[in-house]
Amino acid sequence: MFFHYRTQGFILKKENRGEADQILTVYTKDFGKLEILAKSIRKITSKLRSGAEVFYLSEIEFVQGKNYKTLTDAIALKKFEKIRKNVLKLDIAFRISEVVDQLVRGEEVDERIWYLLKETFTQLNNQKLKSFNLQLLYYCFFWNLLSYLGYRPELYNCVLCQKRLKPERLYFSSKEGGVICQNCFEKNKTTAIFIKPEIIKILREMLKKNWKILERLKKERTVFYSLEKISKNSLGKILENNEKNL
Ligand SMILES: [Zn+2]
Repeated sequence: MFFHYRTQGFILKKENRGEADQILTVYTKDFGKLEILAKSIRKITSKLRSGAEVFYLSEIEFVQGKNYKTLTDAIALKKFEKIRKNVLKLDIAFRISEVVDQLVRGEEVDERIWYLLKETFTQLNNQKLKSFNLQLLYYCFFWNLLSYLGYRPELYNCVLCQKRLKPERLYFSSKEGGVICQNCFEKNKTTAIFIKPEIIKILREMLKKNWKILERLKKERTVFYSLEKISKNSLGKILENNEKNL
């Protein structure tokens, strides 16, 4: 007799297996990230289908077998329908689920990540923002996720000399994990990306989960470009280190 586990989870990803099965990647409230086999879910008669769509928040039940977990029940709690109806929102949801899948390794419970996902998906669903502001939601999620995973960037003092940052020419180093002052940058000849003080301020607000910043920011390509650049750079660095430590 197998023990049945019940929890809530975000369905992040689905992959087809065999004739009618799927492997679901689910971020659960009580067990962290799990991969669960959904048997025969692609059959029209499957009772699991209606409750286990990608980007649903569902109540799920599974059993732990010898080698894998098998889904036995799924009830949709929130379908986030406004995400589904908007191509840009859908794209952001895909980016969020991809980055969780890339960065969260192993089955480790972290309620903060669970609530961050819940908050972000709710925001993404309900926000009536212009496309520029909507896209900032991803970075808000990304930097908070990084912070919970132990990569909170230093945004107040120089990571190298610890001196309080001044609004001068500043640099962001994903290797050092934060902002570097001009003096240290010139002295150490380290690889870092030029970052404007206003971007540092945006990142600080994002890490406070100040969702209002999304509305307040005016469309500016440099803001977007800068956030994209340091986010990609930091993600690349973490993935590179993770691979080395495997
Ligand atoms: Zn310094």
